[in-house]
Amino acid sequence: MNKDLFLKAAPILNQIQAHGFEAYYIGGSVRDYLMDRPIHDIDITTSASPDEIETIFEHTIPIGKEHGTINVVYQNENYEVTTYRAEGEYKDHRRPDEVFFVRDLYKDVERRDFTMNAIAMDTDFKIRDYFGGYEDIKQKRIVTVGPAEERFTEDALRILRGLRFKSQLGFDIEARTFKAMQHRVADTAYLSIERIIVELTKLLEGKDVAHVYPLMLDLHFFDYVPFFKNYKMSQIKICEPISLELMLAVMMYQQPESHGTLKALKISNEMKKSVQIYCDIFEKLETHSDKRSLRLLVYDYGLPKLSYLLSMQETLNANQIALGHPLIMNQATIKEIYNDLVISKRSDIAINGKIILETLNRKGGPWLKEMLRDIECAIINHELQNEQSEIINWVKANV
Ligand code: ATP
Ligand code: MG
Repeated sequence: MNKDLFLKAAPILNQIQAHGFEAYYIGGSVRDYLMDRPIHDIDITTSASPDEIETIFEHTIPIGKEHGTINVVYQNENYEVTTYRAEGEYKDHRRPDEVFFVRDLYKDVERRDFTMNAIAMDTDFKIRDYFGGYEDIKQKRIVTVGPAEERFTEDALRILRGLRFKSQLGFDIEARTFKAMQHRVADTAYLSIERIIVELTKLLEGKDVAHVYPLMLDLHFFDYVPFFKNYKMSQIKICEPISLELMLAVMMYQQPESHGTLKALKISNEMKKSVQIYCDIFEKLETHSDKRSLRLLVYDYGLPKLSYLLSMQETLNANQIALGHPLIMNQATIKEIYNDLVISKRSDIAINGKIILETLNRKGGPWLKEMLRDIECAIINHELQNEQSEIINWVKANV
């Protein structure tokens, strides 16, 4: 098991303890450590208040101080140190109305979502496991801390998180926990879309997503999520881990009649652009997939997106999206095409709009954009050399 990250963070816990407080590793890192999975970041939980943490450490950032979280910067790494917390009433199924800082570890782990996420571990790698989380990890089961129905009623995001963990870890969801998911799924409608997107993205990329997706359909989960609720999700097939962007593109391409604007998902413009690019590629490949158009495709959209699509053929086929004949459209061919590209972007063309206007003694207009595109295509397809005099002759011959 990989202890490196814990050993690196140990001085922080030691320092907190030296000031008379408790400190433990907690949450995902402990769970992943006990499962012998790679650990990405370490969370620390402590009896010290945020103010006390700020006095103990020289370099801190109050990233979520009102919720008890202070970032401690130590040896150029950021560590989230969160004060033991208990939560007040939940009125809107998404956030407690208030949080209280407490000095008792039990109170802190009691409010956590699943037993496997509620295990605290000290610097000697000894665990404090009040809810049998380690046994549940060994039995590969997802169980809420305390009564599932109550826990999901408090915060419906836990339903999605449970599904997300199943997808990532391949665990089973314990029967009572799943029943409560069925009862409370409608509360998902109260959640902020940002929180849903974070979990959904991880869920879709999980190794077990092909088994989790049918469960989500069973639960009618998507009926409560903006955008998704406009689509017939049972017609969408997910056979393997998939990026959120690609899933959205598949939905939009397969069901263009379903309207919904991506704006409702509050995803970044970059993500929206990716979705659009995937849709464009699907459309182009549907109409023509000869070597000529493939060259343009590789030039226009680059290797990573096309290569990713090729790796997702099973899911695309299941959704009736064809990428063209495998003899033409395959990983080796697109790599070869990419390596042979004469130019890689428009500014590589040995001419520009200004020179064309001067040569032809014409006024600009939409025709110029079209002409530049024609030049670009001709160069990409080796019908025209990327040399200014050649291009000028070609332009004169083609007006
Ligand atoms: P990952 O490895 O993906 O980061 P994680 O378990 O660390 O998984 P986080 O979202 O980072 O998940 O949350 C850290 C910890 O905070 C969880 O392990 C859990 O104990 C607690 N937690 C997070 N979200 C909730 C929630 N909605 N309700 C209760 N506890 C939660
Ligand atoms: Mg985490």
